[in-house]
Amino acid sequence: MGKVTGFKEFPRSAVPYRAEAERLGDFDEIFSGADPEHLQTQGARCMDCGVPFCQSEEGCPVDNLIPEWNDLVYQDEWRAALDRLHATNNFPEFTGRVCPAPCEGACVLGITEPAVTIKNIEQAIIDRGFEEGWVEPVAPRQRSGFKVAVAGSGPAGLAAADQLNRAGHAVTVYERADRIGGLLMYGIPMMKLDKRLVERRVDLLRQAGVDFVTRTNIGTKAAVSTDHMINLMEEGRDETAYLSVEEVLDRYDALVLAVGATEARDLPIPGRTASGIHFAMEYLTRSTQSLYEKSPSSINAAGKRVIVIGGGDTGADCIGTALRQGCQSIVNFELLDRPPNKRASNNPWPQWPLIVRSDYAHTEAQHRFGKDPRNYSL
Ligand code: SF4
Repeated sequence: MGKVTGFKEFPRSAVPYRAEAERLGDFDEIFSGADPEHLQTQGARCMDCGVPFCQSEEGCPVDNLIPEWNDLVYQDEWRAALDRLHATNNFPEFTGRVCPAPCEGACVLGITEPAVTIKNIEQAIIDRGFEEGWVEPVAPRQRSGFKVAVAGSGPAGLAAADQLNRAGHAVTVYERADRIGGLLMYGIPMMKLDKRLVERRVDLLRQAGVDFVTRTNIGTKAAVSTDHMINLMEEGRDETAYLSVEEVLDRYDALVLAVGATEARDLPIPGRTASGIHFAMEYLTRSTQSLYEKSPSSINAAGKRVIVIGGGDTGADCIGTALRQGCQSIVNFELLDRPPNKRASNNPWPQWPLIVRSDYAHTEAQHRFGKDPRNYSL
């Protein structure tokens, strides 16, 4: 376990984001650097509680061995912590940044005290691993002779490709967009996940033997709706290539479907077709593309009065993007009622705590305009 009395000695102290005034001026990651000694005290708070609910069904969806690496960080054994983290998680640099951390909601210490800062520790372990050069391509010792195609290069597709390649199969990942990564690349904005981290991991997979093909959709053109990601990718660029499932199965022994949900849920209400109304994925994708290409985004909130409908993570990412583009004002509509400040009696530990939270973009809006942009029950 961490330090026997660690949870009594050290209060929870999460690694802060960069100050709003600074981070609103760029699309760099919101995270500030973590001090290793500080994280050791946070790892020391883990009680190794015997039945670690952070690893239960209510906790970490990738079954991270959380108490083990908390203890190793406390012991200053960062390399061993990295090995235990990679034992269950192909890409901790992504989860350590963008996961909502259900582990912390299920942490046993959270019954009476603020939970262990699990997500911060996870990010610090993998970031240190890359800094120290400990993260290397993992190629198989021998090949199986089987060929596998993976449709989709988001986190699921990349993890499937990694595991299949380690098992010795020859893996080719097909992606319909122009860059590998799926939602990691175009759904999550730069300030939450630097795209160089995605490219770094894709390069490692390439070095381990995985092949990647972009701008190729497995399926038929007729099945693609007019507002689909593919049409977005074709604007001013080459046409997307199509491969039928039959063609794929002729060339490969198996096909893994790891496709995303890029079909947006529409809001069929009066006025929906007015100009200036966009789906979140279209907005976020164009923003990231424009940052890559160093050109203004074709959907730009600069000088605009912006309404974001939807109070979840994607809504927050749209708020953060609009603020960085220089919107004149911002309002956020949320369908549900404002959650309570503390768990309600019908939402006990270790369930995900349904409480009011302020995401990075909400505090940024507060900083810029002097008030929380959220309006509930709308
Ligand atoms: S933050 Fe990390 S340890 Fe926690 S639930 Fe997410 S992936 Fe698992």
